[in-house]
Amino acid sequence: MGGKNLVRIDHDGVTFRSHWEGSTHRFTPEISIATQRALGADIMIAFDDCTPLTDDVDLAEESMRRTHAWSGRSREAFLRGKSLYGYRQALYGVVQGGVFQTLREESARTVSALGFDGIAIGGVSVGETKRQMYAVADWVIPLLPEEKPRHMLGVGEIEDIFEIIERGVDTFDCVMPTRLARMGHVLLPGGISHSNRPRSWTYDIQKREYAESPDPLVPGCLCATCRTFSKAYVHHLFRVRELLGYRLTTIHNLYLIQTLMHDIRHAISNGQFRDLKASWLSSKEARGLLSG
Ligand SMILES: [Zn+2]
Repeated sequence: MGGKNLVRIDHDGVTFRSHWEGSTHRFTPEISIATQRALGADIMIAFDDCTPLTDDVDLAEESMRRTHAWSGRSREAFLRGKSLYGYRQALYGVVQGGVFQTLREESARTVSALGFDGIAIGGVSVGETKRQMYAVADWVIPLLPEEKPRHMLGVGEIEDIFEIIERGVDTFDCVMPTRLARMGHVLLPGGISHSNRPRSWTYDIQKREYAESPDPLVPGCLCATCRTFSKAYVHHLFRVRELLGYRLTTIHNLYLIQTLMHDIRHAISNGQFRDLKASWLSSKEARGLLSG
């Protein structure tokens, strides 16, 4: 949410103004739950205060306490209502606490005790370093119930997916694959390694060098885009800002992420997670890593 003046948080909920057309909206835990019921979400998320990156422990604690109060209200609203569409909906609580170990541990214990169907770790990917993000996972995960699914909110990039799964998280949500796709950035299995800068996970289909290429976006990829269209065609669509271009790169990027998650599940059950991780994060080759 851009612009602090657009948002006002009080103990009961949040009021914000649309950055599109200025209309005012109010969200409380109860309204959030009713909205997610109406949307038919498979996994509903308790209404939380996503703590911004701060070194002020009092601010982080205030935000965490608000999240805990809203967690209880979200769960009560959830239990009072029922699914509108004939299938079960799950409700996950959210752990907050910023970059502070004591707060994160308190939040993990508090939210775990509330009886949610699963636990989400929130307040990450807000500008902290990767080391800080992994530390949050290291503090929180050992305190979560072993038998319930764990979700990390707003993550992640390819290396984060490997690092956080290794620490015990099951699922993620992230705008990364679709946002990159809309900018013409095509995800590559294994990425491209560089000697003097971090590995890049994408290439830009808008570059002139792809204007005549008859190859698919990623040779060997079995997604609908790669099985049907050439780099040159997708490049052309981006050049003329034809909406199909954004759609085709989005299909490819989502396919790649879903296939990666499939491969990771397979590797975990075969005891080969570390090998798969190494093949993505240390290999110099950018081809042939997807199982298809
Ligand atoms: Zn593809």
